[in-house]
Amino acid sequence: MPTQLNASTVAIRVALPVPLFRLYSYDCDSLPAVGARVRVPFGNRQLIGICMGKDESPDPTIKRKPISAVLDESNCWTEPLWRLLVWAADYYQHPPGEVLQHALPALLRQGDAAGYQTTVHYEVTDEGRTVELDSLKRAPQQQRLLAALRRQSLLRRDIVSEDYSLSALKALQDKDLVAAVEHQPDLQQWQFSIDAEPLTLNPEQAMAVAAIGAAKQAQTYLIDGVTGSGKTEVYLQAMADVLRRGRQVLVLVPEIGLTPQTLRRFKKRFNVPIVMLHSALTDRERLDAWLDAKQGHAAIVIGTRSAIFTPCQRLGMIIVDEEHDNSLKQQEGFRYHARDLAVLRGHEEQVPVLLGSATPSLESLNNAMQKRYAWLRLTKRAGNAKKAQHVILDIKSLPLKAGLSQPLIKLIQAELEQQNQVLLFLNRRGYAPALLCHECGWLATCERCDAPYTLHQHNRLLQCHHCGSQQRVQTQCHDCGSTQLVGRGVGTEQLESTLAELFPEYPVLRIDRDTTRRKGSLQQHLEDARDSKYPLLVGTQMLAKGHHFPNVTLVALLDVDGALFSADFRAAERLGQLFTQVAGRSGRASKPGAVVLQTHHPDHELIQDLVNNGYHHFAASALTERELTQLPPYGQMALFRADDTQADAALAALQAIARHFPERDDVTVLGPLPAIMEKRAGRYRYQLIVQCHQRALRTQLLRHVLPQLEQLPELRRVRWSLDVDPQDF
Ligand code: ADP
Ligand code: ZN
Ligand code: ZN
Repeated sequence: MPTQLNASTVAIRVALPVPLFRLYSYDCDSLPAVGARVRVPFGNRQLIGICMGKDESPDPTIKRKPISAVLDESNCWTEPLWRLLVWAADYYQHPPGEVLQHALPALLRQGDAAGYQTTVHYEVTDEGRTVELDSLKRAPQQQRLLAALRRQSLLRRDIVSEDYSLSALKALQDKDLVAAVEHQPDLQQWQFSIDAEPLTLNPEQAMAVAAIGAAKQAQTYLIDGVTGSGKTEVYLQAMADVLRRGRQVLVLVPEIGLTPQTLRRFKKRFNVPIVMLHSALTDRERLDAWLDAKQGHAAIVIGTRSAIFTPCQRLGMIIVDEEHDNSLKQQEGFRYHARDLAVLRGHEEQVPVLLGSATPSLESLNNAMQKRYAWLRLTKRAGNAKKAQHVILDIKSLPLKAGLSQPLIKLIQAELEQQNQVLLFLNRRGYAPALLCHECGWLATCERCDAPYTLHQHNRLLQCHHCGSQQRVQTQCHDCGSTQLVGRGVGTEQLESTLAELFPEYPVLRIDRDTTRRKGSLQQHLEDARDSKYPLLVGTQMLAKGHHFPNVTLVALLDVDGALFSADFRAAERLGQLFTQVAGRSGRASKPGAVVLQTHHPDHELIQDLVNNGYHHFAASALTERELTQLPPYGQMALFRADDTQADAALAALQAIARHFPERDDVTVLGPLPAIMEKRAGRYRYQLIVQCHQRALRTQLLRHVLPQLEQLPELRRVRWSLDVDPQDF
């Protein structure tokens, strides 16, 4: 029998954290706010969902369950952010319940109250105030932290975000030099003040700051400035205006190591509350930081990509630093691009958005060329630094020693003798990327990935860099039993030891994922590199991002040839960015610098263009090519991926998806094709590419197709996903 709607009962639609597109209907005594959390029965569980509003056409034939509780009086997000989230679920065709969950701190996802708890401050004791700092000479971490706590008391999350050590904190507490004190959170409105004098801007910087100052509400600015041109100074001065008006600034930075550095620069300039959202926060700290942002108690909010979902009551500006960086794209689950969402959020919030990079993405460059973004170019390095000289080194048929050619070794020698620093860049960690039998050619291979194991010499391990599996180094060939096993190719570990042999009097510092696993060690390494304790620096991609090494006068890229012939259409763009970013590490202070590129293909068009004409010329030709082939940003792409232990099952799933797309001239469906790495961790991986001329058409098609896929038997057992505007193939 149909249920009678009792006069005061309303039916509401709820988004639940399940991988399905539909919303669920529940009964409620009175209508909760849209965007408020509700607790509801689901099967025999209780779930936390989000109220999406009244169910305008409740199905009279089904019996709805009542909700168990309403957890919030109002929307968890601000109005503009809520609109962005709803839009994003549709644009990326991702189940709305999962999108909304993704945008909440863990404690709110679990149903905790959206309120502060008493927070604990760490303060110096009387003894901590008077003790000689020198008495802690043997414990530099404790010394540094105590000095900081004398200046002001800190929350645990401040201690973590400024990269002080928690064990040092514990030690100071044990010595009664520091005490934990409970405070009610201080919710005073902050007052704006500037701590350090701003620099005198050069004309290009001044024009940029003036243009932003004259901002019409929702303009996006592309701050396209060569490395060292002073983009950060432009951000700081543009922010000053916003902060002075009592509005907040949200800053997105790439994930690696940059955050403490950025934080320090901001803190030095502005005397306002800054919160940092990063992976080392506890759930409680993250919620407190989130509340600070939402309620406007934090003036500056800094975080990596997911910080784009932080509500800010009085947002005045969004900054995306290194806007070309791939870490802004979420690669699993809800696959969004934080830069693209930042631009849209700017529209919703009616605030300016600054996108900064020395090597803007082709998407952003195109938007600047089409005048959708205001294009602010900084072409000169700030201060005295000169542009580095570029050298292509043809290594065809040259003998290589751990990847180093003789001419390069000579160049390194010359710089070292001048007391300069040299940075060598090799994007492959480990000792050798393969272990080979010298007698019969057998390769030690990860069977789950069909890929060679990387040899790590220091711990005698073979490691698969694709699935993480590892085993001890064999002493005998698996096929012929020979003991002549040799490493083939060069990784950073081998480069480091070869350099130590070649230049015994010059210490080498290696910075890669293996040497920076311990918390705080990346920061420590970067500081050591900057202080020029190490004349020789060896690193992977990690070293390419926004670090400032004033004494480096020679940068060399040892091997980038792989990118010249990659099947990924973005490989050229990435190489262009990498080359330009790495080159930017050379000659930043008063000394001129050089950049050496070793290659077997010195005449390759891409290399010639980059080296002779620079990133922007290269980018313009790449854009022309993309237009001809209707690749992004001209064509609009969506990528379905499927993988399974059975290749056939993954293929069948994608074929079933393909059948749902109509045949029309303005839609191309390609595939299923094998992924660039066809087998990984024991699973076969395929993909299906959907390309449309127009974004609106793509959204319309996906909106139509996706909900139908839930029913397909072919999709039941395989793992599959949709990636709208994919970055990786
Ligand atoms: P980018 O972010 O563009 O790589 P930074 O903002 O880090 O560049 O600036 C590079 C260096 O130049 C920094 O040491 C900075 O203090 C300095 N700098 C920036 N602007 C100026 C200026 N107007 N006058 C003098 N030095 C500047
Ligand atoms: Zn063999
Ligand atoms: Zn593997």
